[in-house]
This record gives sequence, structure tokens and C-alpha cells, in this order.
Amino acid sequence: MSAEIIDGKKVAELVRTRVREDVAEWVGKGNRAPFLKVILVGDDPASRVYIGAKTRACEDVGIETSTEILQDTISAKELKDVIRMYNTDDAVDGILVQLPLPSHLSSHDVIETINHKKDVDGFHPMNVGRLALDQPCFRSCTPAGVMELFKYYSIAVKAKHAVVVGASNIVGSPMATMLSRENSSGKATTTICHKYTRDLTLHTINADILIVAAGQPHLIKAEMVKEGAVVIDVGINRVADETSEKGYKLIGDVDFESVRKKASWITPVPGGVGPMTVAMLMKNTLLAAKQSIYPTD
Ligand code: NAD
Repeated sequence: MSAEIIDGKKVAELVRTRVREDVAEWVGKGNRAPFLKVILVGDDPASRVYIGAKTRACEDVGIETSTEILQDTISAKELKDVIRMYNTDDAVDGILVQLPLPSHLSSHDVIETINHKKDVDGFHPMNVGRLALDQPCFRSCTPAGVMELFKYYSIAVKAKHAVVVGASNIVGSPMATMLSRENSSGKATTTICHKYTRDLTLHTINADILIVAAGQPHLIKAEMVKEGAVVIDVGINRVADETSEKGYKLIGDVDFESVRKKASWITPVPGGVGPMTVAMLMKNTLLAAKQSIYPTD
């Protein structure tokens, strides 16, 4: 068997085209363009790359954006004051604080300061809680992007056994929530694994749908995967590569070449889940501008 490739680039472009059309329609009705404020603390090179991709995506779909770069010595109070200023600024629809933050700042504390109605990353406890309750909310972009891939490729999730490897607040946990909810699109029997899981293979081998977000290069090998499984690789790992100009290459958490021979569907890295994350951010920012999730009464 050789798995069908899930083309995240193609699906992300379709999502972005839809957002572009909706933004044009929204602006055509006399509304201002949606506006996304990005806050970067410090100068992490990887964060700059991610922000660059988000900025280009905004420009592509007609969303306005600007990035505020703050010193990595900023105090929690100063950072929260900046966020509060944008919370009450009617010209700002979405606020995104790029993670990770310098170690003296608590990401929980900072995220909780963002007005949940502008939390287009879907990380605020209000949005996480509403996701768990199957209520309308901003859904975390990466897992929401994975659900969109299932929808596009008509990959049935309902009643399947889904195994999520990784339980972080931004990927693994919301992914498992989306898959497992009984009333929304998920409806899968869901297992969550993390670094304390004793025998990972015991779980992964039983997965009809295997989603890996552990940040461990090639953690998942063919012998850990059930024949015919759907394999979604969220991992993005930089590994040294002398043959590349940059001196590194990006690989996933799944050993793609061996696993593709066993799976029915598989996402590549790059070009799988990554582009979907940015596309879903565009979707969330438009929803924020339209106040579709939290209508004002
Ligand atoms: P994280 O470090 O916050 O969490 C990793 C999780 O994996 C933890 O729950 C940990 O317990 C678990 N884990 C680690 N080693 C494990 C092991 N050997 N077996 C089982 N579980 C293990 O990471 P994160 O922010 O959730 O990101 C995970 C990966 O996804 C990273 O490679 C990151 O770069 C990537 N990522 C990709 C996108 C995207 O758009 N494609 C978005 C966010 C994160």
C-alpha cells in the first residue's frame, strides 16, 4: 500500500480563497478591512519566520496587520498594558501574541489578558472552555486546520479510534477535544498520549486516525502504525542538513518514507498541516471582525 498524500498547501489555498472573497464582500458592504495585531516579545528567529508567513497571508487575503516588537526585557505588567490597549481599540479585531515568550513571562497570564473576543489563536481559557462545551468559540488554528483537512478529503472521523500523540495546550489537547466531542464534527473515540505514556506503540498501533504533535523527529515508525491508518504529522523539527543551503531541513514527527507504505492517507512535512494553521488564522480573524463568534447585543 502507498498512502494518498494530503495536500495541505492546496486545501489552505482554498480556505484562503474563500476568506479573500468574504473579506472583499465584507469591505464591499462599507466595513473596514479586518485588522490583526501581532505582538512579538524579543527576537526569536523562528518566531520571526512564523510572523512573516502570517503577515504575507494577511496581505494575500486583504486583512490588514501590523507587528509590534517589544524588548525581551519587558515586564509582565508592561506587556499586559500593551495588550489591554489593543483590547479596547475598536480598530483592532484580532490580537495574537507570538509564542514562546521569554521565560520570565507566563504565557497563561499573558494569554488570559487578551480579550477573548479578539483571541484569534483560540488559546484564551474562555475559548478553550467553550470548545470543551461544544459552544461557538475561536478554535485553535492548528487542530482546526486538521479538522478542515478531514472535511476536504471526506475522511470519516465519526466512531473511529483517534490517537493523539502530544497533549500541549496549543495542539494536542484542543485536537483531542475536537476529535472527541459527541455533538460537533469529531465523534471519535479518542486516546491522548504524552511523554508519560508507558508504551506508545500499544496505543498508536490501534489508531484508525493517528495525529502526532510531539516535536520529536521521526518518533513514529512504520511498525507503530496500523495498516490503512490515516496519519497526520503536525511536527516541525529542524535537523542539520549539509546538502541544503540553509544548513538544515524540516522534518516531521513521523518517519514519512516508511509510514507512507502502511497508511491510507498521510500528510507530508512541509506542506501538510503547516499551511493550514495560517489559513485558519485568517478565517478566525475575519470571524472576529464580523463578530460572528461573540455577537455584540
Ligand atoms: P510541546 O513541546 O508544547 O508539546 C509536546 C507534547 O508532546 C507534550 O504533550 C509531550 O508530553 C508530548 N511528547 C513529547 N515527547 C513524547 C514522546 N516521546 N512520546 C509521546 N509524547 C511525547 O509542543 P507543541 O507546541 O504541541 O508542538 C508539537 C510539534 O508540533 C512541534 O514539532 C511543533 O513545532 C509543531 N507545531 C506545528 C504547527 C503547525 O502549524 N504545523 C503548529 C504548532 C506546533
